[in-house]
Parts: sequence; C-alpha cells; structure tokens
Amino acid sequence: MINEERLVDLFRSLVSINAPSLAERECAAWTKAYLEKIPDLEVWEDGAGAKIGGNANNVIAKLAGNKHDAPAIFLSAHFDTVEPTEGLALAEREGIFYSESDTVLGADDKGGMAPAIEAVQCLIETGAPHGDVYLLFSCAEEIGLLGAQALDIQELDVDYGFVLDTGPPVGSFVTRTATHDKIEIRIIGKPAHAGKDPEKGINAIQVLARAVDGMRLGRIGPETTANLGTVQGGTGANVVCAEVVVTAEARSTSVEELDAQVDHMVQRFEAAAREYGARVEIHHDRHYHSYTLSEDSEVVQVAQRSSRALGFEPVLRTTLGGSDANIYNAKGVPTIVVATAMDKIHTHEECMSRQGLIDTARLAYQICLEAAR
Ligand SMILES: [Zn+2]
Repeated sequence: MINEERLVDLFRSLVSINAPSLAERECAAWTKAYLEKIPDLEVWEDGAGAKIGGNANNVIAKLAGNKHDAPAIFLSAHFDTVEPTEGLALAEREGIFYSESDTVLGADDKGGMAPAIEAVQCLIETGAPHGDVYLLFSCAEEIGLLGAQALDIQELDVDYGFVLDTGPPVGSFVTRTATHDKIEIRIIGKPAHAGKDPEKGINAIQVLARAVDGMRLGRIGPETTANLGTVQGGTGANVVCAEVVVTAEARSTSVEELDAQVDHMVQRFEAAAREYGARVEIHHDRHYHSYTLSEDSEVVQVAQRSSRALGFEPVLRTTLGGSDANIYNAKGVPTIVVATAMDKIHTHEECMSRQGLIDTARLAYQICLEAAR
C-alpha cells in the first residue's frame, strides 16, 4: 500500500528545504502546495505566524471521513528543524539517510511529516473505512512549542491525535512526560573600580558562585532533572561585576518534586544574595505541563493495536522531553507521541533509516484504520 518511492521522494524534498524556527515559510508553502494536489483534501493555514512573530503559519489539511460514526483523529508533525540545515547535502548509505554536509539532517521532524502525508494518500487510494483525518503541521516547535500554542485545536473538533515526533523504535509511543519550568535569575551587585575601590563593589559573579556551590543539579531523581544553561554578565576585567543573568530549567514527571527543586534553586540564589548584600530578580515560568495517558484510553488502545497489527512492540515510554503533544493534551485533546525513525537528533550525526521511514508510514496508515474500527 505504501508507495515507497513517493514517500522517499517526499522526505528528500522536505529535508532539502531549509526551515529554521520562525522562518519556515518556504517549507510551509511547499507542503501546502503538495497537499493541495492531493484530491479530496481540504487544505488551509491558520494565523499563527503573526501571533508568534514568525513568517509561517500552521498548515492543516482535512480528509473527510467515509465512515460517519468513526472518531475524528489527527496526525501531526512540525516543520521547523534545529539549525543548521542550510545547504544540506542528503546522502543515503546502506539504507540510512544522513547529511553529508556540515548540517543536521532535519529528520526531526520531516521524518514525521512525510509518513503522515503518505498515510493519508494511501487512505484515499485504498478507500478503506476511516473517520475524519486531519494533518496538522506546526511551526516553531523547537523554540518552545509556539505553533501548537497558537493553534486553536478545539476548533478542529478532533477526538484524539498522534504526534509523530520522537526517536525509535518504531511501534513504541510516549504516554507520559514531564512538566518543564524555565527560570531566569538576574543577580544585581554593585560596580566599582577593581583596582581603586574594590571594597565599594558587590561582585555578582561571587554571589553566583556561592549560590551554585552545593546546589542540586543534573539528575535529581529518576524522573527529575535540573540545569543551569547560560551565564551572561560583566563589563570588563577592571570592573567589579555588577550584574549576571543566568538561565536555568528543571523538569519532572512529578509537580511536587519539580516545585521542591525550583524552590531549592531560588532559595540558594536568595541566600547568596543576602549574604553579599546583592539583589536577585527571579522570573519563573511553567513552560509546559506534563501529561499521562491512561493505558485504557482510546488513543493508547488504537496506538497499541496498530503497532501489534504490524508486528511491532507497542511499548509505552516516559520522556522528560517536550513536544506539541504537551500542548494539545493541555488543551484537552488526548494526544500520544508516535516514535519515528529519526535518530541522534539535534546533532550533525542525525540519521534515519529508509526502512524506518517506511515502517512509520505503515504505522500511521494502520492508525487511521484502527481508529475507525
Ligand atoms: Zn521534533
């Protein structure tokens, strides 16, 4: 059923279009034009770009159901890739796609887009019974799930959905994720001439060092992590450092553990600032919420049945990483993450197997069938 040549051609075309976050216009336009050529698909885009400061919108397509009592589902992936992808030279060796140039491959998430589109084309060609199937391609996922946040998913009236956006093995799914907090800490000391009046200054770097020494970071528990990611500050070696800005994050599948970790980090900064007579301004943001899909929910059942029907292991996974599914679940639409063949993502070694691409398309097609059963 899966047209291997068409699928691989589509994947090749998609990865060859550069699509950094907030600048996915070319990829979105190309995809929309491709979808418009598929008979029976209604294709449109929303107004996400203007809301999030990007040049592309989310692109949506609808294949109306031919079985009227079947649930409405969506298959989703994101356009944007981490950088760099400009000037990608795609190669294939022993059935593995990779980038020959000094770029990432962008299989995250073009390796989710192509199978979703191929599945819908197969559905049209076979005429198998199905409910409404939406294709939902989002922008600006990599920089904070912005396209999904801007999307009015309730308006689509879908029952549940599938986000094709995690690594192998194909046939496994993510049903449990973390809540993710972002923290920005501004430490405000006092500038002074480093040689003439050092005693008149308050060194923000020293406050930072005191705060971080003994702070619990890294893996806090089996499903809780914390990190300090960036530090910026200072004006010169001859000035007592007056200000440092630190960005940090913490994630956990348990909100209680997450809150305790964030409190711990905040308290360390506040105590160090008090000790040195400095000030801290802390901005704390719940970036996205965790979700847990129950094993007997319909979306999980359909996913597992589809996987089994093709002889895969329908393993349910937990991840501390986020995806558009966090947003759709938070908006009330049960959404599961479907493993694709993308591997070593966000690195120059990113790769994807041809067989994995085909298997993902077969699975996406099977999901449409099982949902209608
Ligand atoms: Zn992704």
